[in-house]
Amino acid sequence: MNDHTVFFLLPDVVSAAMSVQVLAAKMAEVELKDVPSKELTPESPLTPKADDKGMVENEPKATSATTPTMEPMVKTGDTSPGFLTPNTKMPQASAMKRTDPQQNGGEAFVNRDGTVAEAPRLKKIQFADQKQEFNKRPTKIGRRSLSRSISQSSTDSYGSAASYTDSSDDETSPRDKQQKNSKGNGDFCIKNIKQADFGRREIEIAEQEMPALMALRKRAQGEKPLAGAKVVGCTHITAQTAVLMETLTALGAQCRWAACNIYSTQNEVAAALAEGGFSVFAWKGESEDDFWWCIDRCVNLEGWQPNMILDDGGDLTHWIYKKYPNMFKKIKGIVEESVTGVHRLYQLSKAGKLCVPAMNVNDSVTKQKFDNLYCCRESILDGLKRTTDVMFGGKQVMVCGYGEVGKGCCAALKAMGSIVYVTEIDPICALQACMDGFRLVKLNEVIRQVDIVITCTGNKNVVVREYLDRMKNGCIVCNMGHSNTEIDVASLRTPELTWERVRSQVDHVIWPDGKRIVLLAEGRLLNLSCSTVPTFVLSITATTQALALIELYNAPEGRYKQDVYLLPKKMDEYVASLHLPTFDAHLTELSDEQAKYLGLNKNGPFKPNYYR
Ligand code: NAD
Repeated sequence: MNDHTVFFLLPDVVSAAMSVQVLAAKMAEVELKDVPSKELTPESPLTPKADDKGMVENEPKATSATTPTMEPMVKTGDTSPGFLTPNTKMPQASAMKRTDPQQNGGEAFVNRDGTVAEAPRLKKIQFADQKQEFNKRPTKIGRRSLSRSISQSSTDSYGSAASYTDSSDDETSPRDKQQKNSKGNGDFCIKNIKQADFGRREIEIAEQEMPALMALRKRAQGEKPLAGAKVVGCTHITAQTAVLMETLTALGAQCRWAACNIYSTQNEVAAALAEGGFSVFAWKGESEDDFWWCIDRCVNLEGWQPNMILDDGGDLTHWIYKKYPNMFKKIKGIVEESVTGVHRLYQLSKAGKLCVPAMNVNDSVTKQKFDNLYCCRESILDGLKRTTDVMFGGKQVMVCGYGEVGKGCCAALKAMGSIVYVTEIDPICALQACMDGFRLVKLNEVIRQVDIVITCTGNKNVVVREYLDRMKNGCIVCNMGHSNTEIDVASLRTPELTWERVRSQVDHVIWPDGKRIVLLAEGRLLNLSCSTVPTFVLSITATTQALALIELYNAPEGRYKQDVYLLPKKMDEYVASLHLPTFDAHLTELSDEQAKYLGLNKNGPFKPNYYR
């Protein structure tokens, strides 16, 4: 049994909800005893195959394409204790559930104050000492990585939309500045250390909505489960990430961090981290050269050898593989959050090149359910309101796709008094829509009458020019799916149509007869382009990341092989349980008799691993 992890799953992590405490403690006991003895079949014969076209080697898909949703299928009947073990390897098809982020994003961002921050041009700043090293990066990888970095992937724009400070008046590259914090430490590179106080307030606000991380922190006052861990991280540098980093430090880790996206850094938060002693290398509006330089500074410090990687997108992992492969001798594991990064890890694993264990956080239930459903339920209204000031009551809204995202959007709009129509291709989701009280229609049946059209399918060409032509004057058109391919925006770039930019991220497209439609974010992801994402959702993901790090760091030799693992259901349940006290929620405990009757362990897991 792993003492450190067990320590963390002890009952009083959660201050309230006694039943949750007991659950957590027991979960830990069962969980960590169950060291995998043999791996599950990675792919059930029942598992639908992913669209092979989506698995192009080294090149994430250029569009959302149509990879159908595939539920992870582990072997049925996995209800034995072995099923609880962390070796419930994700079928590769499942890891491709969400399409790779590859969009045209990044031209302009709207700040909270309504100002528009144009995406900086890619200044080719000289990389003094290792210029050649950075500039000779293979074009393909450079292009791919940059486009991922500047694209608006599922998490890309959190910081972009949320950052209050742009500091675009200061043109000097942070790399050209001598920087020191108030204690004389200069091992960081950020935009402006003077913004630290402001950033600290942002972090404090985020802390209030990240209860599980704060609970873990309290536990760290005694034993430190990450003592000796040297975590090198590459994620969005936002207030929420700062809470995660400070939690990891409280748990005993040393952290060095770079941004996984050239636009998403909240400069004031980076400043607060640097002031707090973190080696952070990131600013909003990095060039591609800066991006890799920051990652390199993070990794490459004499006398410092990372032993854990926390990555979002796979660029950091890729960089270490490419530049410092020997580092992997001491690295205990990789925790990866994004669909793209996970895809890359599976590719490495498939090619037999993955040399350390990796945790796929992207496909954890607690990420998918909360990110897709609840996050969209909250942010659809925000995105629409900020851009259009529309009133929802009585409006006729067309939602294309009734998956997790569609369900979230429909629920929010229905609650606001909108009349919601749904389109679906899948009879099961269609039936769910009907049972939830929505009218299931074909798009052409209602296209003339609806006020708002929202795509949430992950598919392409769902709203084509024919439909756009038939929409009524003033119809709002937007996309909540990952890629900007759902609305055929290109078909609107014809000479007879006039485009008018009326606000940041809002275009009026005007027909010769004067009819206009209101196109939001040029068909890119609405919520991530035009609003912010609830911190509580990020808390759930960040807690999963922290637990994955603790688990990998403390795992005894042999528990994890050089492969990609999905956190077991019990860990997901534990993450959820840590968030319950926020709601003063009281979980019911199974009696012995009930547990026996259901064939469950009293302490979980309560659902099979394939349950979503
Ligand atoms: P999902 O697979 O659960 O749902 C998509 C639904 O669309 C499916 O039920 C599918 O049958 C249906 N569909 C496919 N083609 C269709 C068509 N032509 N017409 C009507 N329906 C069609 O996926 P999801 O989790 O709901 O995610 C949907 C998209 O949103 C994905 O691209 C995903 O990456 C993205 N996403 C966005 C956010 C966000 O914050 N905006 C968060 C998570 C995921």
